[in-house]
Amino acid sequence: MTVPFPKRLVDGYRAFREVRLPGERSRFAALAEKGQRPEVMIIGCCDSRVSPEVIFDASPGEMFVVRNVANLVPPYAPDEHYHGTSSALEFAVQALKVKHIVVLGHAHCGGIQAFADRAAPLSPGDFIGKWMTMIAPAAERLGPKHGNGEDEDYIRRLEGAAIEQSLHNLMTFPYVADRVASGELALHGAYFGVASGVLLVRDPHDGTFVPAAADGPVADG
Ligand SMILES: [Zn+2]
Repeated sequence: MTVPFPKRLVDGYRAFREVRLPGERSRFAALAEKGQRPEVMIIGCCDSRVSPEVIFDASPGEMFVVRNVANLVPPYAPDEHYHGTSSALEFAVQALKVKHIVVLGHAHCGGIQAFADRAAPLSPGDFIGKWMTMIAPAAERLGPKHGNGEDEDYIRRLEGAAIEQSLHNLMTFPYVADRVASGELALHGAYFGVASGVLLVRDPHDGTFVPAAADGPVADG
């Protein structure tokens, strides 16, 4: 039996073709001719609720986005292994010469939660298990969580610490460190509250997260 292309996608494409494409046709044509020149790279989570283009109201060509489990940047490791996120980073910095890199974390991150719970499918032999060990140094700095039950505050702090770890790992890439030092590139952290829609931005001076826009919704989470 042949399974048809998902109807949701066909319907969605139809809506795009009828509503959005007419307004953006010239933009697409220009982008096709001149190539992309985004100034911002976003490193976000695969989580279906945290689409950077939706959160930042972005048009085609504006943001270079890489998404992976828990929005993590691995440390610079030039070896024989395959490096998806590092490849995207290399292209964004070396070829596109983006001016900003934003590590976009979010509330209720399944990857972070699973690391905290040491839950399935995070056995060390699985890809996710290995991938998430990247935040072990961040977790170590944070100390143990309080009690055995749910500790929402701990998860939140771990989500923040993971962003911090990724920002740290970004600086292990020589060309990132060079461009940051010369002022051509800036690194940022941000955190999206899925339930509230509130976007927090990392204050580079003290590492705290503060609302990106003061006039937005104020609910927590
Ligand atoms: Zn996530």
